[in-house]
Amino acid sequence: MLLLAAVLLPTICVLWLIGRSLHNERLLLRQKLAEAYGTQLTLARERLETEWALKAAALDAAGERSAAFEHIVSSGLADGAVLLDAAGVPLYPAPVRIPGSDPEATLPAWAKAEHLEAGNPTAAAVAYQRLADSAVTPALAARALQAEARCLTQAGEPRAAANLVIARFVPGGALARIVDLQGRSIAADALLMALHTCRPEDTCRDIAASRLRKLLLDYANPAMPSAQRLFLMKEMRELPLPAAMKSFPTLPAEELTARFLDAQPRPRAQAILQPSALPGIWEYGSSSGRTLALFRTETILAGMSDFLRRQGPPHDVRLDISLPGASAAQPNAIAVLAVGNRLPGWQVSLAPTGSDPFAEAVNRQSTLYLWIGALVIAAVVTLAILATRMIRRSLRLAGIKADLVATVSHELKTPLASMRLLVDTLIDDTVLDSQKTREYLALVAQENDRLSRLIANFLAYSRMERNRYKFEFASLRVEDVVRAAVQGADERFQEPGCKLDIEVAAGLPEIYADENALVIALVNLLDNAYKYTPAEKRIELRAQAGEKGVAFEVRDNGSGITAREQQRIFRKFYQVDQRLSRSGGGCGLGLSIVRFLIESQGGTVRVASEPGKGSTFTVALRSVS
Ligand code: ADP
Repeated sequence: MLLLAAVLLPTICVLWLIGRSLHNERLLLRQKLAEAYGTQLTLARERLETEWALKAAALDAAGERSAAFEHIVSSGLADGAVLLDAAGVPLYPAPVRIPGSDPEATLPAWAKAEHLEAGNPTAAAVAYQRLADSAVTPALAARALQAEARCLTQAGEPRAAANLVIARFVPGGALARIVDLQGRSIAADALLMALHTCRPEDTCRDIAASRLRKLLLDYANPAMPSAQRLFLMKEMRELPLPAAMKSFPTLPAEELTARFLDAQPRPRAQAILQPSALPGIWEYGSSSGRTLALFRTETILAGMSDFLRRQGPPHDVRLDISLPGASAAQPNAIAVLAVGNRLPGWQVSLAPTGSDPFAEAVNRQSTLYLWIGALVIAAVVTLAILATRMIRRSLRLAGIKADLVATVSHELKTPLASMRLLVDTLIDDTVLDSQKTREYLALVAQENDRLSRLIANFLAYSRMERNRYKFEFASLRVEDVVRAAVQGADERFQEPGCKLDIEVAAGLPEIYADENALVIALVNLLDNAYKYTPAEKRIELRAQAGEKGVAFEVRDNGSGITAREQQRIFRKFYQVDQRLSRSGGGCGLGLSIVRFLIESQGGTVRVASEPGKGSTFTVALRSVS
């Protein structure tokens, strides 16, 4: 638990730190970029304001020119325009003039002609012709000619009417600029009438069309109020004329301006870009207040975007413009500025283009942090695992040491106490009985052997633990090894009720091993066979040809070992039944020493056992090839 906490806590801390660092990194980058490109944005804003100040001046200059409306819209200064006089009254498009009293109506000849028009158009046409011929002013002549053409049409002579109009209303002529009582161009109206009355195949039709078109496009001609122009342009568009004859570049501007004046008849030209009464249309006055420019939202946005693009912002950022009231320009904008006084509410913003430089930089940083984090966590986990292993090892070693001390003391005490008792008994005897003395001395020798084996085992163990065991390899004859092992096992095997069978197969090859180590291992196995066979002991020691060399087999008919225990008995200090082992003089080290000694020589130790029937331990070693 403690270790888990030791791992989890730093891991959580590292993850938290990474999270914070990334957040800060993002903020820092945003700030850096905003600072780096801040001047760019300010510059763009200033230029935009200058651009609009220049536009106001340009509108003023354009307003002074003749054909100002046409100039403004066809030069792209605005989508529509209203030209005002000093009092702010629209000059163009001008409101429709209310007709005053008709001076011609007082003329008796005019009244007579008018009277004839109702019943006899032919006679009326003649009367009007006379009036036109004798007219003292061009205005009267123009009106009389217009009336004559009208009467000729009514009298069923449309061709004559058209020809009359074409013949008399010549471009640049005295009658071309005459207006009627409503201030409308008489020539234009007469030409439209001629257009309507001519048949398509008549040449007078083409002449009338081209003359009318010229008049409509002639903005320098003051004899054409905007309402009439608009009406005539629309009329011409309805007629079956060639497309070029019907194209009027100023028509959309005329329409827009007319709609604007309908909605706002008394406009005020202020040098501020503001929404007009028409939705989607903005108005902007010239510096002097004499010209009011109209713009569609799309036009402004396109123009400004184009302007901002031309400011040449660095490739990784983009300048954007946004309408008043629009939610903050770009969702990923790094800096936003109000454009200024002339464009209230408009904002310019700076946003990264295409691939977000923040995202890229932050991603790079994130990857770095994540790697660092992963390495730190991996290091913490590795250290924790190592620490756990070390702690467990230390604990095990501490346990082993404690066990060893207890075991060694106990194991040494028993044979020493026996020897002491035997020797004391002999000393206490006043007369030494040679038979008894011999028996006791034999017992002392036996205990001594046991002690020697124990000490040999402890020494082997101690060297094994300290990695100090020195093996002295030599070619050995199997018979010699078996003999030495049997000698090393104590004389118990000669006791009644104990049978040790030795069998060495003939013709075995020599083995390459450390004799001493091999003998210690075999003595341990024989000792165990003796210890763990309770009643009638039938123990066998066999040497035979093995898989790669020679196999020594120690078989007993003892208690046997369960399959589960077979896995464990080779561990240090492991004893299946401690009481049983202790009574037989064991300390749980024998088999671990056997395995160490044999495996260190390149051999193997295996056990095959069945509880209650006995065990067979097999030591296999390579032979000298
Ligand atoms: P010990 O000194 O206790 O004998 P060992 O390492 O030699 O320690 O043996 C470990 C355990 O294996 C013993 O405690 C015993 O229970 C079991 N064992 C070893 N040899 C035999 C055997 N021949 N028959 C049955 N059990 C055995």
